[in-house]
Amino acid sequence: MRVLVVEDEPELLRVLAQSLRETGYAVDVADTGRLGLAKALAWDYDLILLDILLPELDGWQVLTALRKQKATPVLILTARDAIDDRVKGLDCGADDYVTKPFDLSEISARVRALIRRAAGKADSRLEIGAVVVDTARRKITRAGADIVLTAREYAIVELLALHRGNLVTKSQIYDHIFDESDDTLSNLVEVHVSNVRKKLGKDFIETRRGMGYVVNG
Ligand code: CA
Repeated sequence: MRVLVVEDEPELLRVLAQSLRETGYAVDVADTGRLGLAKALAWDYDLILLDILLPELDGWQVLTALRKQKATPVLILTARDAIDDRVKGLDCGADDYVTKPFDLSEISARVRALIRRAAGKADSRLEIGAVVVDTARRKITRAGADIVLTAREYAIVELLALHRGNLVTKSQIYDHIFDESDDTLSNLVEVHVSNVRKKLGKDFIETRRGMGYVVNG
């Protein structure tokens, strides 16, 4: 899952990006509203965390411009706890809110919920044959046994599981799993898929030659 964080306070931006990366998301960052909007329009993010008080364009302007083109889920970060901000956010097309100061655990929980909701899955557990993907705990079991995956492997499995039965192209995987700071060596989707098959069974991910991958079940 690839997330954009738009926040102008450097320390908060750093902490948010680090925390989301440690959770296993690919994370892009922007420290102005204008840059945030440009990235939001250029990439199909799974979620955008958007501050309101930003230089160049504020969060409302970014959200309003984004909604003319895209339905990307947006979690608003606001220092203001005013009720009219919440109403304005909903009117502008925000999906959820967090009021500063916030716990990183609260952000994590809301990020997971929004990504699940966007994929149309209310349940946090996805069962695919003997494999269970628990998106709330970011854990995978096979026939009841815990399977240890790297963050990248987990991200690929979760993406395919959320789109089970449907083709996921290699470029979709690149767009959703890797961020602008990744180098090419870490970007070998085939290697990650091969490692997942060793752990979850060779039939767990089906290859559609020249097109992409499918998880059935
Ligand atoms: Ca700010």
